[in-house]
Amino acid sequence: MIPEFDQQQVLELKALLETSKKIVITTHHRPDGDAMGSSLALYNYLVSKGHHVTVITPSDYPDFLYWMQGNETVINFEYNTGKAKQITADAELLFCLDFNSPSRVEKYSEYILKSQAKKILIDHHLDPENFCDINFTFPLSCATCELVYHLLLKLDGPDAISKAVAECLYTGIMTDTGSFRFSSMTADTHIVIAHLLVAGASNFKIHESIYDNFSLERTRFLGHCIKEKLVVLPEYNTAYIAVTKEELELFNHRSGDAEGIVNYALGIKDIRFAAFFCERDNLIKISFRSKDNFSVKELAQKHFSGGGHRNAAGGRSNDSIEITIDKFLSLLPALKEELNAPV
Ligand code: 5GP
Ligand code: MN
Repeated sequence: MIPEFDQQQVLELKALLETSKKIVITTHHRPDGDAMGSSLALYNYLVSKGHHVTVITPSDYPDFLYWMQGNETVINFEYNTGKAKQITADAELLFCLDFNSPSRVEKYSEYILKSQAKKILIDHHLDPENFCDINFTFPLSCATCELVYHLLLKLDGPDAISKAVAECLYTGIMTDTGSFRFSSMTADTHIVIAHLLVAGASNFKIHESIYDNFSLERTRFLGHCIKEKLVVLPEYNTAYIAVTKEELELFNHRSGDAEGIVNYALGIKDIRFAAFFCERDNLIKISFRSKDNFSVKELAQKHFSGGGHRNAAGGRSNDSIEITIDKFLSLLPALKEELNAPV
């Protein structure tokens, strides 16, 4: 969709960017394609305008995203805490991309909230929290990258979309729309994609970099999840996969390896609700996916301290993996009617 930005806020941002500024761009914990794509697109644009820009991520992210221009300058808060704190304290502008609640940046949130910088939120999740000065939030948009695209056009016209910017934006729209297939993908977004291709983004190269770049262990891990760990509950049109820390270690797990596995559970005929439970160091990270009008957002919010979108949400649990699964299973009877309802 084409966002209707508040003209006053656009002008305010434009004025702020008129002189060279110290700028921090940050995004959510465990950044995905949209998080890194939007952050590095904005980074490349602002650097081209003479600003001093640093992207700070709250954690690491998958190496299949490392090819984007500017990636080598990204500071990981977990690995480089001192430097990240210093740069954040010195920043004059702070962009928050692809999240709308300070809790999504975990330990880095304290330094964002403390920062005296003018804060600008650009995001497409529901129910934004009020922690920024300028807010561009559009839950109907398919990706934060789509919002960054339209904002850059407002700020600077089509010239803002350099080849590097186009590649980053293409990546985020591609990954957040399941390669242009979710209902959030509109004709307007296809027009954006066409412009990104004209601006120099190479669709086949980007797809290959993101989707054909798994380690052998990750592919074997996927096989293990599907063959050994997939549980199907036909009476609830539900399927789930749960993996322990030991299993992750066995397959030499790296950041991003678990991403997308939940979709294999959702891809089974008649399954409308899928969950993936992944045991991390001190919590269970949960991914929920659903088809059509069955919403997983409220469930993630209410029972697993999370949130997200109607058909893709996530959350966490501090209980053991067994207790977490029991809790999940105990929620299903109340949802049975909705899960069994004809689409
Ligand atoms: P994933 O399953 O890919 O980690 O996350 C799917 C979607 O759920 C993300 O786009 C994000 O919007 C949301 N999400 C995932 N984890 C959390 C969480 O811990 N808190 C909130 N509020 N949203 C989450
Ligand atoms: Mn996103």
